[in-house]
Amino acid sequence: MSVTFEPALWYSVTAQDDNEACANFGKTFDVNPFYSNAGTNCYVQCGLCKHNMTITSATLLDPQPELS
Ligand SMILES: [Zn+2]
Repeated sequence: MSVTFEPALWYSVTAQDDNEACANFGKTFDVNPFYSNAGTNCYVQCGLCKHNMTITSATLLDPQPELS
């Protein structure tokens, strides 16, 4: 399953570490807010193994957060 992002928007995402060698393997992490940048190459990096986790769900934030 893949998640698609619209560019330059804020999302709430859930990501799962799929690196079997990592202590976080199989754990899920919520990232909110998560910025989609160009809508591609959207990754959540594991803080332990620096592996790019698999994003399992993404919800567009409504309203979008006001960040300066
Ligand atoms: Zn990891």
